[in-house]
Amino acid sequence: MTTDTHYVGRFAPSPSGPLHFGSLIAALGSYLQARSQHGKWLVRIEDLDPPREIAGAADNILRTLEAYGLTWDGSVMYQSQRHGAYQAQIDQWLHDGDAYYCQCTRKQIKTAGGFYPGTCRHLHRSAENSAVRLNVDTPITYFVDRLHGRIDIPATLAQEDFIIRRRDGLYAYNLAVVLDDIEQNITEIVRGADLIEPTGRQIGLYRQLQHPEVSYLHLPLAVTDNGNKLSKQNHAPAIDKSNPVPALIAAMSFLGMAPPAALIKEELKDVLQWGIHAWCIDNLPKTTEIILTKTH
Ligand code: GLU
Repeated sequence: MTTDTHYVGRFAPSPSGPLHFGSLIAALGSYLQARSQHGKWLVRIEDLDPPREIAGAADNILRTLEAYGLTWDGSVMYQSQRHGAYQAQIDQWLHDGDAYYCQCTRKQIKTAGGFYPGTCRHLHRSAENSAVRLNVDTPITYFVDRLHGRIDIPATLAQEDFIIRRRDGLYAYNLAVVLDDIEQNITEIVRGADLIEPTGRQIGLYRQLQHPEVSYLHLPLAVTDNGNKLSKQNHAPAIDKSNPVPALIAAMSFLGMAPPAALIKEELKDVLQWGIHAWCIDNLPKTTEIILTKTH
């Protein structure tokens, strides 16, 4: 397939379990959006939080993507190999006075009303046993999503000096995701609507880095009938590697496409080709959650 270098999309799973129907939606939606524009589609393993990882999950996710015909461009990026880049950026901001060490506990923040009031900003705390927070001087109060339109961010959340490295030394998701998306030249982020909330902070990081912003498209989230997100944490069943077509067709229907009944008998590559041609963001359900009526 010819690729035109301007569009670069990605799928960025955390290796906390096997790929389930919810993550298939994010993978397929971002894949179809990239391929329908002859763009590139990259995969990044977000192995940022070792305690939440399951041994073998990263490889299992990659093998599942392959079994589903969702082939990516270039090599896979692993966040566990990017610590040097994250730390270098944090050091720069600490040096420039754009970030600071914070020793407040979760309990203290809760007592202060749930949002961090900037307590340590001018206290020159030592690095030891400290988190690192970014100075948020220009809060991002809204952004425009390609599916949902304008999304307002509550002021308390927008104004918070948020964490870029945790007290336990782990790098924060928002920092890693933005530095990696910049490193991989991503032009548009297509992911699940559970990540709408941190988007304002991510846009703030792009501004802080004086880097052109990307566009965002948050896909509806698959939820169970008791309202829980289908996730690895709540043990959503793994999708079947040996029989990808039915799950792909179900994911296409979920994304507002209308796969013809006969597609079920087609070969995997033809099913994906149908998807690439039929994909249209105007058909996506304009909602952030869809309850699954049957198990996939
Ligand atoms: N790693 C995140 C997850 O699995 C997705 C991050 C993103 O797409 O920005 O939920």
